[in-house]
Amino acid sequence: MRNHRKNTLNRLTFDNSFSQLGEHFFTRVQASGLTNPSLASVNPEAAKLLGLEPLGLSQDWFLQWCSGNRRMPGSDPLAMVYSGHQFGGYSPQLGDGRGLLLGEVRGPQGKWDIHLKGAGKTPYSRFGDGRAVLRSTIREYLCSEAMHGLGIASTRALSIVTSDEPVYRETQETATMLIRLSHSHVRFGSFEYFHHHNEPEAVKQLADHVIEQHLPELIGHEDCYLHMFRHTVHSTARLIAQWQSVGFAHGVMNTDNMSIIGETMDYGPFGFLDAYNPGYICNHSDTCGRYAFNRQPIIGLWNCNALANALTSLLSVEQLTEVLTEYEPLLFSTLLELQRCKLGLEQALPEDETLTEDLLDSLAKNQVDYTLFFRNLCYFDESDPDKDVLDKSVLDKSAGDETSAHTALRDLFLDRSACDDWIKRYRQRLALEQRDPVDRREAMRQTNPKYVLRNYMGEIAIRKAEDEQDYGEIDRILALLQSPFDEHPDCEEYAKHPPDWSQQLSVSCSS
Ligand code: AMP
Ligand code: MG
Repeated sequence: MRNHRKNTLNRLTFDNSFSQLGEHFFTRVQASGLTNPSLASVNPEAAKLLGLEPLGLSQDWFLQWCSGNRRMPGSDPLAMVYSGHQFGGYSPQLGDGRGLLLGEVRGPQGKWDIHLKGAGKTPYSRFGDGRAVLRSTIREYLCSEAMHGLGIASTRALSIVTSDEPVYRETQETATMLIRLSHSHVRFGSFEYFHHHNEPEAVKQLADHVIEQHLPELIGHEDCYLHMFRHTVHSTARLIAQWQSVGFAHGVMNTDNMSIIGETMDYGPFGFLDAYNPGYICNHSDTCGRYAFNRQPIIGLWNCNALANALTSLLSVEQLTEVLTEYEPLLFSTLLELQRCKLGLEQALPEDETLTEDLLDSLAKNQVDYTLFFRNLCYFDESDPDKDVLDKSVLDKSAGDETSAHTALRDLFLDRSACDDWIKRYRQRLALEQRDPVDRREAMRQTNPKYVLRNYMGEIAIRKAEDEQDYGEIDRILALLQSPFDEHPDCEEYAKHPPDWSQQLSVSCSS
């Protein structure tokens, strides 16, 4: 046993480039371990990324490590410093107030930052206790893996360790730790910190670090900083286009929650759309709706602008402006392409934009569930024009599979004739496609998820965990969301409309 333990540990090779930047960029802090820790969930997919063997995950050393009670050999735990714009106002001093970068590990297919969230107080904790609670940890754990399952760049999650340590929010809750993996924990706010502290040398050093670690093809390039900035702006635009296409609202798009490499990070009061509502505000604390769903594209640009400002010691205003002007066209062309894929359209035709816009308008007016609509559309059969009528009384009599797909689509609308009108146009548009309809429908099922992490699903897992110390639902939902395009016959209930009680749920910044 002892030998195996050692071997498994020894397979993690730390390669800590960030800690070599110098203490200007962080403070070295050791984790404050949790008392009586217990492993609530471990994600085998994330363990594979680190090359950790499944056998090791049930051993005591793993629990001690994930609860901050034992330091990983080779790790060099530190709290990163950063600042950022929060809800539009500049906060000069943020930083890892409750998380630590343990180090960077070389996995079988690349390097991963290992971050321990909820690891205790740091010099950047301000008035916070340095801890994270069980409910927010479950939500981050599930959502980061759900996003990855949807093919959207995201931090990943390895483990949830809970404890018997009380922490106080609105009520007494339980201190919990998350192990998060990421390609980079450098944020827009990391650059802002040094720029606003008037330290251009540090801005340059950080940019060189990002290039060295993530864009090695730019090393030595005379326009390396311009290309780095372009990379961030473009990956942010593409990322937000993907958020919009799956109906994801981040909730707190502060610049300290924006990854320099364009990964979704720092999951808090996020939400997936149920009924399509462009003005959806998922964060109860966001009283002005700054981060409403339909504002995410423009806020992404606002954030890139804040980053541009922080890079003025490296790039001219003309250079920065040039790259910023690329954001909007890229985001909207990416989004249109994603929407075409959702509709199963292979060719790009000028009328697609109006077809999509009119559909979204109609979904909003008719309070149609966003995920259910597109998933049902994957079964739409344009081959029989009679079905265009979509007359429920007729269709019910001949209830075949295709028939019920048509009916199901219609039934999602308050005004069923609005569905008929759009479907008529859609059928005409499909007639211009060359692809075999069977192939089209299969491709659509790989684009339109059957399952997304609706708020109530996380809540079910949280209730069982908090009230009954039953963590099984976390694992069940995790497995489901890791392949959201596939059928999961034992989880059909999660592919339906959310229950009525889910409308009472509210999530805020408290975590
Ligand atoms: P967040 O809203 O989670 O992105 O956090 C914003 C800032 O507050 C970051 O600097 C966090 O590290 C810090 N923070 C949030 N919660 C706590 C806490 N419980 N204790 C210490 N710092 C915290
Ligand atoms: Mg944050």
